[in-house]
Amino acid sequence: MKYTLVVRNDDLSKKLAEDIHHGLKDELIYDNQKPDLVISVGGDGTILEAVHQYMDVDCYYVGIHTGTLGFFTDYQRDEVDELIHDIKKNEYHCMPRHLLEVKVHLKDETKTLYALNEMRLDHGFSTQVISVYINDVLLEVFRGNGLCVSTPSGSTAYNKSLGGALIYPGIPLMQLTEVAGIHHNAYRSLGSSLILDDRQTIKLKGDFKDLWLGIDHLQYSFQDVESIEVHLSKRAMKFIEYKEMSFIKRVRRAYIHS
Ligand code: NAP
Repeated sequence: MKYTLVVRNDDLSKKLAEDIHHGLKDELIYDNQKPDLVISVGGDGTILEAVHQYMDVDCYYVGIHTGTLGFFTDYQRDEVDELIHDIKKNEYHCMPRHLLEVKVHLKDETKTLYALNEMRLDHGFSTQVISVYINDVLLEVFRGNGLCVSTPSGSTAYNKSLGGALIYPGIPLMQLTEVAGIHHNAYRSLGSSLILDDRQTIKLKGDFKDLWLGIDHLQYSFQDVESIEVHLSKRAMKFIEYKEMSFIKRVRRAYIHS
């Protein structure tokens, strides 16, 4: 088996990465081009970087946690030996995490992007007016800072800060959430988040001359966008679970009692 490491740029993460490297080098082959296993050392943000770096490689992901929350990472900073042991033992359960497929329709072409957490149209400076269609049926004309569409994996991230619901991992759905919607007599939108299954496509239309689009930790800028379509992709990133980690325990640890 071939492995690689994606490491957050801090002393602890670099030290743990060296220990993992040392523990695996006699039995596994290091290959940062076409790895079978990508080991992330850092936070949930490091997993996002790893996934975008290796999105087109057929590989598994596992993470050791030196960040703040750890929704994607099963191992704590003092569990390096356990991680090395579990990788060598190679008995695991695979948790597929579905991506959002985001199609940006420009005048002459369509750009397709994928998100593990979410896609955001989010302007702090000026309001946006966005017509929202679900499977080509008009839902609303939204006015406000923007909109966020998240996966179940992303439900604990920006979506949560926007008041969206936490979603149990693995349920095939996406969640549309408002960013500071304006609700008065001239503009009225739903005001709560909307959860849609994988047969639905969200289409967003607006005056998108200069559009900033957030995909996970990445930002894209597009000119003259005609519309944006978002749906839950069949594509999934394969997260390895060598041991069972309760989602409810993670939620409690992150948001209720650490
Ligand atoms: P970042 O510094 O990489 O991440 C910001 C925070 O979000 C970090 O605490 C990170 O945890 C956490 N995070 C990332 N994915 C998560 C997930 N699925 N569940 C729970 N927490 C998660 O920031 P960035 O580069 O700007 O963007 C990466 C992500 O951060 C975005 O996808 C977005 O969801 C989130 N974000 C949240 C807000 C907000 O809540 N107001 C604002 C901007 C971005 P670690 O410390 O463990 O890496």
